[in-house]
Amino acid sequence: MIVMTPEATEANIAAVLKRLETSGVHVLVLPGELTTAIGAIGDPEGVIEVIARGIDMFDCVLPTRNARNGWLFTRRGDVKIRNARYRDDTRPLDESCACYACRHFSLAYLHHLQRTNEILGARLNTLHNLYYYQTLMRELRESEVVLEICPTSNLLTKALPHEEAVRDVFRTFVDRGVCFTIATDGPEMMRTHLRSELALLHRIGALDEDELAEANRQGHDASFIAPVGQRVAG
Ligand SMILES: [Zn+2]
Repeated sequence: MIVMTPEATEANIAAVLKRLETSGVHVLVLPGELTTAIGAIGDPEGVIEVIARGIDMFDCVLPTRNARNGWLFTRRGDVKIRNARYRDDTRPLDESCACYACRHFSLAYLHHLQRTNEILGARLNTLHNLYYYQTLMRELRESEVVLEICPTSNLLTKALPHEEAVRDVFRTFVDRGVCFTIATDGPEMMRTHLRSELALLHRIGALDEDELAEANRQGHDASFIAPVGQRVAG
């Protein structure tokens, strides 16, 4: 779910919707005042693109899954490490990246690990992609971006395999000062609603009551939708 800010013009919204549809990304368009809320997007370019168009709430779930499949995100573009062009390449994956994989290993070695299905390859790839997203998130945080996340969606898709992983992610957000808010992706399909998402996070020790209130405040502050009572009569 992406919620657009007042800066998101209709032309921008139409452009984003078109891009998402042609990318095969699920697009959810809600009626009335919620027309500017659209479905999830997770690739780094997509995140940056929609931010540039005035959107500042999003969620992303694919860095680790792509990493295991040898799909790596870098500043120079995506690297599919299985590709034969990397077989003899002694450079690091991303010279501008300070992650463990980039500091210690070459493209050729990562290529070899992926080709031979060595589990170390999946781990190094994952380290890099998470580091990349962390760097991206830090830059986004400095741009006052608010991350929107649905715990149940992440559990059902196995993006987060169990409740402890959900707790770890939220504690990481809090520890690193990431602005985030809680949402429900497809509440009717997942048989959830916002209250049960908040109760889940509280029950598993992901967020205390003050932190839940803060997450809700972040969502309200980032939303383009005026609070009830301040809306202009139609
Ligand atoms: Zn790296």
